[in-house]
Amino acid sequence: MFEKLLVANRGEIAVRVMSACEELGIETVAVYSDADRDAGHVDYADEAYNIGPAPASKSYLDGETIIEVANRAGADAIHPGYGFLAENAEFASQVESAEGITWVGPSSDAMTALGEKTNARRIMQAADVPVVPGTTEPVESAAEVRELGAEFGYPIAIKAEGGGGGRGMKIVRSEDEADDAFESAKREGEAYFDNDSVYVEKYLEDPKHVEVQILADHHGTALHLGERDCSLQRRHQKVIEEAPSTALDSGLREAIGNAARRGVREADYTNAGTVEFLVEDGEFYFMEVNTRIQVEHTVSEEVTGIDIVREQLRIAAGKELPYTQDDIEIDGHAMEFRINAENPANGFAPTPGTLSTYDPPGGLGVRIDDAIEKGDVIAGDYDSMIAKLIVRAPTRARCLERSRRALSHFDVGVETTIPFHRLMLDDETFRTGAHTTNYLDETVSDDD
Ligand code: ADP
Repeated sequence: MFEKLLVANRGEIAVRVMSACEELGIETVAVYSDADRDAGHVDYADEAYNIGPAPASKSYLDGETIIEVANRAGADAIHPGYGFLAENAEFASQVESAEGITWVGPSSDAMTALGEKTNARRIMQAADVPVVPGTTEPVESAAEVRELGAEFGYPIAIKAEGGGGGRGMKIVRSEDEADDAFESAKREGEAYFDNDSVYVEKYLEDPKHVEVQILADHHGTALHLGERDCSLQRRHQKVIEEAPSTALDSGLREAIGNAARRGVREADYTNAGTVEFLVEDGEFYFMEVNTRIQVEHTVSEEVTGIDIVREQLRIAAGKELPYTQDDIEIDGHAMEFRINAENPANGFAPTPGTLSTYDPPGGLGVRIDDAIEKGDVIAGDYDSMIAKLIVRAPTRARCLERSRRALSHFDVGVETTIPFHRLMLDDETFRTGAHTTNYLDETVSDDD
């Protein structure tokens, strides 16, 4: 096993990774920006190194400095968390070629192959995994977009080849929208992902977002840990995630899990990953692979009892997965609520400030993943998610009740998304599990 691991991240995920290291007896190294001198992940680590000013581009995205620090600290592994450099294949490759340092993640080759969305679609098709109807090559002109619109029928989506998180995606509802959408998808792709290449997919009108958690070792075992349902979204950003999904019966569950396993095998993928699908009318369609640990990995941990970060570390160290697919059982129901420093009553505007109070709930079935405490300053420099509440219960109905209890005892000294989550727990559509990815955008207006 590794002796000392550097976490190239901040916030709750940095602490989450360090907690898995602690249980495995691995020492931890934090890196931090000027804005994070007193941050929770710095406190938690055995050692910490400043890597530059607050803007992420000058600190958490500075791969060269991070590798230098790993060398200086004598770290023998780097875990990237999610966001920042986690899906940057070039950084992964630099870590791979750094003497004596192991990258905790899939190989940079697998990351490159799956990071290019049309290539990922080709890989899935080769593994007999159904993909969202669309192109497997980039699209070069608005005229081509119009031809595809005629072929697939509107609406269609133009998506950035390097995209993700709903960024670089433009919906085209009729042929007159093709020119503007083509240009703006290219612009967003260039701005966010440094890649102006785009492709076209059929835009499904009312799907569920269902994703499969994968673990694959270097000895040929690729397992799935069941699915997560992330259909409750605001502007294509996940708000509440849960496992298992209300959209699958046992046949579909097995089919989607096996499709995900075939897909990652085809890509020679190792470590943890997520294969994302859209599900509509009892059919599933591959959307993309996230080649990293995800924010919502926690709900899969709660229903399978498997520590996914621990397995990431064991896999990276060359160990075999200690399970077969038959050992994986889904037990109970779990939900994750993203606690963001945002004001739902003001268009979800960020609410930076000092935490005059911070008092999270506890008790049976309640888990908090965070890296903050009372008195901390929530700066506006990074993601607004300050904590995750994860609730587990034997059934979905009881999970809703337990979540209501937990949320009503969660006191945070700045405005957060907690009141919004509480509203959702009283929402009939969410309670029955009938919500699809468009539900919130159709029911909650922008200035609610
Ligand atoms: P991620 O956020 O996981 O990186 P994407 O940016 O590809 O993934 O997609 C984000 C969300 O956008 C999806 O969960 C879904 O709500 C929506 N979406 C993406 N592609 C389509 C499509 N072809 N049809 C309908 N909705 C889509």
